[in-house]
Amino acid sequence: METTAKNLISIEKSKTSKIEQVDFDNLAFGSVFTDHMLVCDYKNGAWEKPKIVPYGPLMLNPSAKIFHYGQSIFEGMKAYKDTAKDVYLFRPLDNHKRFNISAKRMAIPEIPENYFMEGLKALLQLDEKWIPTKEGSSMYIRPFMFATGEGFHASPANEYKFMICLAPSGAYFAGKVKVLIEETYSRSANGGVGFAKAGGNYAGQFYPTQLAIEKGYNQVIWTDDNTHEHIEEAGAMNIFVRINDTLITAPTSDRILDGITRKSIIDIAKAEKIPVEVRKITVKEVVEAAQNGSLKEMFGAGTAAVISPISTFGHRGSDYDLPVLDASYASLLKKKITDIQYNKTEDTFGWRVKI
Ligand SMILES: *Cc1c(COP(=O)(O)O)cnc(C)c1O
Repeated sequence: METTAKNLISIEKSKTSKIEQVDFDNLAFGSVFTDHMLVCDYKNGAWEKPKIVPYGPLMLNPSAKIFHYGQSIFEGMKAYKDTAKDVYLFRPLDNHKRFNISAKRMAIPEIPENYFMEGLKALLQLDEKWIPTKEGSSMYIRPFMFATGEGFHASPANEYKFMICLAPSGAYFAGKVKVLIEETYSRSANGGVGFAKAGGNYAGQFYPTQLAIEKGYNQVIWTDDNTHEHIEEAGAMNIFVRINDTLITAPTSDRILDGITRKSIIDIAKAEKIPVEVRKITVKEVVEAAQNGSLKEMFGAGTAAVISPISTFGHRGSDYDLPVLDASYASLLKKKITDIQYNKTEDTFGWRVKI
Protein backbone atom coordinates (compact mmCIF):
# COMPACT_ATOMS: atom_id res chain seq x y z
CA MET A 1 0.00 0.00 0.00
CA GLU A 2 1.27 3.40 -0.98
CA THR A 3 -0.18 6.60 0.30
CA THR A 4 -0.25 9.79 -1.74
CA ALA A 5 1.62 12.87 -0.62
CA LYS A 6 -1.57 14.43 0.61
CA ASN A 7 -2.15 11.34 2.74
CA LEU A 8 -5.79 11.34 1.73
CA ILE A 9 -5.92 8.45 -0.70
CA SER A 10 -4.31 5.04 -0.35
CA ILE A 11 -3.30 3.20 -3.51
CA GLU A 12 -3.11 -0.54 -4.09
CA LYS A 13 -1.71 -1.07 -7.57
CA SER A 14 -2.85 -3.84 -9.88
CA LYS A 15 -0.16 -6.52 -10.34
CA THR A 16 -0.93 -6.86 -14.03
CA SER A 17 -2.32 -4.50 -16.67
CA LYS A 18 -5.00 -5.22 -19.28
CA ILE A 19 -3.91 -2.29 -21.43
CA GLU A 20 -2.17 -4.47 -24.05
CA GLN A 21 -5.49 -6.19 -24.83
CA VAL A 22 -7.23 -2.94 -25.75
CA ASP A 23 -7.63 -1.80 -29.35
CA PHE A 24 -7.40 1.97 -28.88
CA ASP A 25 -8.20 2.60 -32.55
CA ASN A 26 -11.61 0.97 -32.29
CA LEU A 27 -12.97 1.95 -28.91
CA ALA A 28 -16.70 1.71 -28.32
CA PHE A 29 -18.33 3.95 -25.73
CA GLY A 30 -17.99 2.99 -22.06
CA SER A 31 -17.33 -0.71 -22.49
CA VAL A 32 -13.63 -1.09 -21.60
CA PHE A 33 -12.45 -0.25 -18.10
CA THR A 34 -9.01 0.71 -16.83
CA ASP A 35 -6.86 -1.22 -14.34
CA HIS A 36 -7.99 0.69 -11.24
CA MET A 37 -11.04 2.14 -9.52
CA LEU A 38 -11.64 4.47 -6.59
CA VAL A 39 -13.70 3.22 -3.65
CA CYS A 40 -14.75 5.22 -0.60
CA ASP A 41 -17.04 3.87 2.11
CA TYR A 42 -19.48 5.79 4.27
CA LYS A 43 -19.89 4.14 7.68
CA ASN A 44 -20.84 5.29 11.18
CA GLY A 45 -21.86 8.69 9.88
CA ALA A 46 -18.59 9.54 8.13
CA TRP A 47 -16.68 9.01 4.89
CA GLU A 48 -13.66 6.74 5.32
CA LYS A 49 -10.37 7.25 3.50
CA PRO A 50 -10.73 6.82 -0.28
CA LYS A 51 -8.81 3.87 -1.73
CA ILE A 52 -7.65 3.18 -5.25
CA VAL A 53 -7.69 -0.58 -5.86
CA PRO A 54 -7.51 -2.90 -8.89
CA TYR A 55 -10.73 -2.79 -10.98
CA GLY A 56 -12.92 -5.75 -10.13
CA PRO A 57 -16.25 -7.08 -8.79
CA LEU A 58 -17.75 -5.95 -5.50
CA MET A 59 -19.13 -8.01 -2.63
CA LEU A 60 -22.50 -6.76 -1.39
CA ASN A 61 -25.11 -8.19 0.91
CA PRO A 62 -28.38 -9.22 -0.79
CA SER A 63 -30.19 -6.94 1.63
CA ALA A 64 -28.13 -3.90 0.57
CA LYS A 65 -30.71 -1.16 -0.01
CA ILE A 66 -29.50 -0.34 -3.50
CA PHE A 67 -31.13 -3.57 -4.68
CA HIS A 68 -34.49 -2.81 -3.10
CA TYR A 69 -35.00 0.93 -3.00
CA GLY A 70 -32.66 2.18 -5.72
CA GLN A 71 -30.70 4.76 -3.74
CA SER A 72 -28.18 5.32 -6.49
CA ILE A 73 -26.75 8.34 -8.32
CA PHE A 74 -24.02 8.95 -10.88
CA GLU A 75 -22.14 11.57 -12.86
CA GLY A 76 -20.69 11.56 -16.36
CA MET A 77 -17.57 13.51 -17.23
CA LYS A 78 -14.51 13.20 -19.47
CA ALA A 79 -10.73 13.67 -19.38
CA TYR A 80 -9.03 14.86 -22.57
CA LYS A 81 -5.41 14.49 -23.67
CA ASP A 82 -3.91 17.18 -25.89
CA THR A 83 -1.11 16.72 -28.44
CA ALA A 84 1.49 17.50 -25.73
CA LYS A 85 -0.05 14.60 -23.69
CA ASP A 86 -1.29 16.95 -20.98
CA VAL A 87 -4.60 15.92 -19.40
CA TYR A 88 -7.58 18.20 -18.86
CA LEU A 89 -11.00 18.08 -17.25
CA PHE A 90 -13.93 20.28 -18.28
CA ARG A 91 -15.76 22.17 -15.50
CA PRO A 92 -15.25 19.28 -13.01
CA LEU A 93 -16.41 21.28 -9.98
CA ASP A 94 -19.80 21.62 -11.66
CA ASN A 95 -20.04 17.83 -11.78
CA HIS A 96 -19.14 17.61 -8.10
CA LYS A 97 -21.77 20.19 -7.24
CA ARG A 98 -24.46 18.40 -9.25
CA PHE A 99 -23.44 15.04 -7.73
CA ASN A 100 -24.21 16.43 -4.29
CA ILE A 101 -27.49 17.94 -5.50
CA SER A 102 -28.45 14.45 -6.72
CA ALA A 103 -27.21 12.90 -3.45
CA LYS A 104 -29.29 15.24 -1.32
CA ARG A 105 -32.48 14.51 -3.29
CA MET A 106 -31.97 10.76 -2.85
CA ALA A 107 -31.16 11.06 0.88
CA ILE A 108 -27.57 9.95 0.25
CA PRO A 109 -24.76 11.68 2.20
CA GLU A 110 -22.87 14.31 0.22
CA ILE A 111 -19.23 13.71 -0.72
CA PRO A 112 -16.64 16.36 0.17
CA GLU A 113 -15.11 18.22 -2.77
CA ASN A 114 -11.54 17.12 -1.99
CA TYR A 115 -12.52 13.42 -1.90
CA PHE A 116 -14.14 13.77 -5.30
CA MET A 117 -11.46 15.92 -6.94
CA GLU A 118 -8.33 14.44 -5.33
CA GLY A 119 -9.67 10.92 -5.81
CA LEU A 120 -10.39 11.60 -9.46
CA LYS A 121 -7.00 13.20 -10.10
CA ALA A 122 -5.09 10.37 -8.38
CA LEU A 123 -7.03 7.75 -10.37
CA LEU A 124 -6.44 9.56 -13.68
CA GLN A 125 -2.74 9.93 -12.91
CA LEU A 126 -2.43 6.23 -12.12
CA ASP A 127 -4.26 5.13 -15.29
CA GLU A 128 -2.92 8.02 -17.39
CA LYS A 129 -1.66 5.70 -20.17
CA TRP A 130 -5.25 4.61 -20.76
CA ILE A 131 -6.43 8.07 -21.82
CA PRO A 132 -6.92 7.76 -25.57
CA THR A 133 -5.46 10.28 -28.00
CA LYS A 134 -7.31 9.38 -31.21
CA GLU A 135 -9.45 12.24 -32.61
CA GLY A 136 -12.85 12.34 -30.89
CA SER A 137 -11.91 9.84 -28.20
CA SER A 138 -11.51 10.60 -24.50
CA MET A 139 -11.58 9.03 -21.06
CA TYR A 140 -15.17 8.74 -19.93
CA ILE A 141 -15.35 9.13 -16.14
CA ARG A 142 -18.13 7.59 -14.12
CA PRO A 143 -18.39 8.71 -10.48
CA PHE A 144 -21.27 6.94 -8.69
CA MET A 145 -22.65 6.39 -5.23
CA PHE A 146 -25.13 3.87 -3.85
CA ALA A 147 -26.62 2.37 -0.69
CA THR A 148 -24.69 -0.63 0.66
CA GLY A 149 -26.32 -0.59 4.11
CA GLU A 150 -28.62 -3.53 4.85
CA GLY A 151 -32.30 -3.84 5.59
CA PHE A 152 -35.71 -4.47 4.07
CA HIS A 153 -37.13 -1.46 5.84
CA ALA A 154 -37.98 1.22 3.26
CA SER A 155 -35.78 3.96 4.65
CA PRO A 156 -32.38 5.42 3.77
CA ALA A 157 -29.38 3.10 4.30
CA ASN A 158 -26.76 3.81 6.94
CA GLU A 159 -23.85 2.80 4.69
CA TYR A 160 -22.86 3.90 1.16
CA LYS A 161 -20.10 3.49 -1.39
CA PHE A 162 -18.71 6.30 -3.52
CA MET A 163 -16.77 5.01 -6.51
CA ILE A 164 -15.12 6.24 -9.69
CA CYS A 165 -14.44 4.04 -12.72
CA LEU A 166 -12.77 5.06 -15.97
CA ALA A 167 -13.66 3.93 -19.48
CA PRO A 168 -11.50 4.96 -22.45
CA SER A 169 -14.07 5.69 -25.12
CA GLY A 170 -14.46 6.49 -28.78
CA ALA A 171 -17.00 8.93 -30.17
CA TYR A 172 -20.48 8.27 -28.76
CA PHE A 173 -22.81 8.34 -31.73
CA ALA A 174 -21.86 7.68 -35.31
CA GLY A 175 -25.07 7.95 -37.29
CA LYS A 176 -27.89 10.43 -37.60
CA VAL A 177 -30.46 10.42 -34.83
CA LYS A 178 -34.13 9.85 -35.49
CA VAL A 179 -36.23 10.80 -32.47
CA LEU A 180 -39.84 10.33 -31.44
CA ILE A 181 -41.71 13.04 -29.53
CA GLU A 182 -43.24 11.10 -26.64
CA GLU A 183 -46.75 11.95 -25.50
CA THR A 184 -47.78 8.89 -23.48
CA TYR A 185 -44.97 8.18 -21.06
CA SER A 186 -43.10 10.71 -18.92
CA ARG A 187 -39.49 10.83 -17.79
CA SER A 188 -40.10 13.01 -14.78
CA ALA A 189 -42.75 15.01 -12.98
CA ASN A 190 -43.08 18.20 -10.98
CA GLY A 191 -41.62 17.67 -7.53
CA GLY A 192 -39.90 14.48 -8.69
CA VAL A 193 -36.27 13.56 -9.26
CA GLY A 194 -35.81 14.47 -12.94
CA PHE A 195 -33.10 17.02 -12.11
CA ALA A 196 -31.01 14.36 -10.35
CA LYS A 197 -28.77 11.83 -12.07
CA ALA A 198 -30.55 9.09 -10.13
CA GLY A 199 -30.32 5.54 -11.50
CA GLY A 200 -34.07 4.97 -11.60
CA ASN A 201 -34.61 7.92 -13.95
CA TYR A 202 -32.83 5.95 -16.65
CA ALA A 203 -34.41 2.55 -15.92
CA GLY A 204 -37.81 4.20 -16.28
CA GLN A 205 -36.95 5.35 -19.79
CA PHE A 206 -35.85 2.00 -21.16
CA TYR A 207 -39.31 0.58 -21.88
CA PRO A 208 -40.77 3.63 -23.72
CA THR A 209 -37.45 3.92 -25.59
CA GLN A 210 -37.69 0.25 -26.63
CA LEU A 211 -41.16 0.93 -28.01
CA ALA A 212 -39.77 3.87 -30.00
CA ILE A 213 -36.90 1.73 -31.30
CA GLU A 214 -39.41 -0.90 -32.48
CA LYS A 215 -41.05 1.87 -34.52
CA GLY A 216 -37.72 2.76 -36.15
CA TYR A 217 -36.53 5.62 -33.94
CA ASN A 218 -33.28 5.83 -31.97
CA GLN A 219 -34.44 7.89 -29.03
CA VAL A 220 -37.34 9.59 -27.36
CA ILE A 221 -37.79 13.33 -26.84
CA TRP A 222 -39.60 13.81 -23.55
CA THR A 223 -42.39 16.30 -23.16
CA ASP A 224 -43.74 17.70 -19.89
CA ASP A 225 -45.70 15.16 -17.85
CA ASN A 226 -48.67 17.42 -17.31
CA THR A 227 -49.71 18.55 -20.81
CA HIS A 228 -47.19 16.85 -23.16
CA GLU A 229 -47.25 20.17 -25.03
CA HIS A 230 -43.68 21.22 -24.28
CA ILE A 231 -40.40 19.73 -25.44
CA GLU A 232 -38.17 19.03 -22.45
CA GLU A 233 -35.10 16.86 -23.09
CA ALA A 234 -33.81 13.52 -24.36
CA GLY A 235 -32.77 10.45 -22.34
CA ALA A 236 -29.39 11.79 -21.29
CA MET A 237 -29.13 14.95 -23.36
CA ASN A 238 -30.65 18.41 -23.28
CA ILE A 239 -32.34 19.54 -26.49
CA PHE A 240 -31.72 22.60 -28.65
CA VAL A 241 -33.98 23.74 -31.49
CA ARG A 242 -33.00 26.27 -34.16
CA ILE A 243 -35.90 28.18 -35.72
CA ASN A 244 -34.68 30.55 -38.44
CA ASP A 245 -31.44 31.79 -36.84
CA THR A 246 -32.50 31.62 -33.21
CA LEU A 247 -31.26 28.83 -30.96
CA ILE A 248 -33.81 27.81 -28.33
CA THR A 249 -33.57 25.49 -25.33
CA ALA A 250 -35.98 24.84 -22.49
CA PRO A 251 -35.26 26.32 -19.05
CA THR A 252 -34.10 23.79 -16.45
CA SER A 253 -36.58 22.82 -13.76
CA ASP A 254 -37.08 20.00 -11.30
CA ARG A 255 -38.00 17.85 -14.31
CA ILE A 256 -35.00 18.73 -16.50
CA LEU A 257 -31.37 17.98 -15.81
CA ASP A 258 -29.09 21.02 -15.60
CA GLY A 259 -26.59 19.88 -18.23
CA ILE A 260 -23.07 21.27 -18.22
CA THR A 261 -22.87 20.91 -22.01
CA ARG A 262 -26.18 22.78 -22.30
CA LYS A 263 -25.06 25.77 -20.26
CA SER A 264 -21.64 25.84 -21.99
CA ILE A 265 -23.33 25.87 -25.40
CA ILE A 266 -25.57 28.75 -24.34
CA ASP A 267 -22.48 30.75 -23.33
CA ILE A 268 -20.53 29.88 -26.48
CA ALA A 269 -23.50 30.69 -28.73
CA LYS A 270 -23.90 34.09 -27.06
CA ALA A 271 -20.18 34.78 -27.51
CA GLU A 272 -20.60 33.86 -31.20
CA LYS A 273 -23.46 36.39 -31.46
CA ILE A 274 -25.99 33.64 -32.13
CA PRO A 275 -29.43 34.74 -30.85
CA VAL A 276 -30.27 32.41 -27.94
CA GLU A 277 -33.58 32.02 -26.15
CA VAL A 278 -34.02 30.01 -22.97
CA ARG A 279 -37.76 29.47 -22.85
CA LYS A 280 -40.43 26.83 -23.10
CA ILE A 281 -40.64 25.23 -26.54
CA THR A 282 -44.00 23.89 -27.64
CA VAL A 283 -44.38 20.77 -29.75
CA LYS A 284 -46.85 22.79 -31.83
CA GLU A 285 -44.33 25.48 -32.78
CA VAL A 286 -41.70 22.87 -33.71
CA VAL A 287 -44.16 20.98 -35.93
CA GLU A 288 -45.33 24.25 -37.54
CA ALA A 289 -41.73 25.39 -38.05
CA ALA A 290 -40.96 22.04 -39.71
CA GLN A 291 -43.98 22.48 -41.98
CA ASN A 292 -43.17 26.07 -43.01
CA GLY A 293 -39.43 25.49 -43.42
CA SER A 294 -38.23 27.71 -40.55
CA LEU A 295 -37.04 24.73 -38.48
CA LYS A 296 -33.36 24.52 -39.36
CA GLU A 297 -31.83 22.26 -36.72
CA MET A 298 -32.48 20.15 -33.67
CA PHE A 299 -29.71 18.61 -31.62
CA GLY A 300 -29.03 16.95 -28.30
CA ALA A 301 -26.26 18.17 -25.98
CA GLY A 302 -24.52 16.13 -23.29
CA THR A 303 -21.06 15.07 -22.15
CA ALA A 304 -21.11 11.67 -23.84
CA ALA A 305 -22.03 12.69 -27.41
CA VAL A 306 -21.19 16.42 -26.97
CA ILE A 307 -23.65 17.41 -29.73
CA SER A 308 -25.87 14.91 -31.47
CA PRO A 309 -27.66 16.31 -34.55
CA ILE A 310 -31.20 15.07 -35.12
CA SER A 311 -32.07 14.18 -38.71
CA THR A 312 -35.77 13.39 -38.27
CA PHE A 313 -38.41 13.70 -35.59
CA GLY A 314 -41.62 11.73 -35.41
CA HIS A 315 -44.87 13.12 -34.02
CA ARG A 316 -48.32 11.49 -34.05
CA GLY A 317 -47.53 9.15 -36.92
CA SER A 318 -45.76 11.69 -39.15
CA ASP A 319 -42.01 12.02 -39.67
CA TYR A 320 -40.45 15.43 -40.24
CA ASP A 321 -36.98 15.59 -41.82
CA LEU A 322 -34.60 18.36 -40.92
CA PRO A 323 -32.63 20.08 -43.67
CA VAL A 324 -28.96 19.23 -44.23
CA LEU A 325 -27.03 22.47 -43.74
CA ASP A 326 -23.53 23.32 -44.94
CA ALA A 327 -22.80 25.51 -41.93
CA SER A 328 -24.88 24.26 -39.02
CA TYR A 329 -24.87 25.65 -35.50
CA ALA A 330 -24.39 22.06 -34.35
CA SER A 331 -21.05 21.65 -36.11
CA LEU A 332 -19.85 25.17 -35.22
CA LEU A 333 -20.73 24.78 -31.53
CA LYS A 334 -19.32 21.26 -31.36
CA LYS A 335 -16.00 22.48 -32.74
CA LYS A 336 -15.90 25.44 -30.36
CA ILE A 337 -16.58 23.35 -27.27
CA THR A 338 -14.30 20.43 -28.18
CA ASP A 339 -11.47 22.83 -29.09
CA ILE A 340 -11.67 24.13 -25.52
CA GLN A 341 -11.91 20.61 -24.07
CA TYR A 342 -8.90 19.29 -26.02
CA ASN A 343 -6.79 22.43 -25.41
CA LYS A 344 -6.76 23.38 -29.09
CA THR A 345 -7.74 26.98 -28.37
CA GLU A 346 -7.60 29.61 -25.68
CA ASP A 347 -10.20 29.02 -22.96
CA THR A 348 -11.69 32.47 -22.45
CA PHE A 349 -14.39 31.04 -20.18
CA GLY A 350 -12.01 29.46 -17.65
CA TRP A 351 -13.59 26.00 -17.95
CA ARG A 352 -10.54 23.81 -18.55
CA VAL A 353 -8.76 22.28 -15.55
CA LYS A 354 -5.31 20.79 -16.05
CA ILE A 355 -4.55 17.60 -14.12
C1 LIG B 1 -26.34 13.82 -17.96
C2 LIG B 1 -27.61 14.28 -18.58
C3 LIG B 1 -27.66 15.39 -19.44
C4 LIG B 1 -26.42 16.09 -19.94
O1 LIG B 1 -25.66 16.68 -18.92
P1 LIG B 1 -24.15 17.06 -19.19
O2 LIG B 1 -23.71 17.69 -17.91
O3 LIG B 1 -24.12 18.00 -20.32
O4 LIG B 1 -23.43 15.78 -19.49
C5 LIG B 1 -28.89 15.83 -19.90
N1 LIG B 1 -30.02 15.20 -19.53
C6 LIG B 1 -30.02 14.12 -18.71
C7 LIG B 1 -31.31 13.48 -18.35
C8 LIG B 1 -28.81 13.62 -18.23
O5 LIG B 1 -28.81 12.55 -17.44
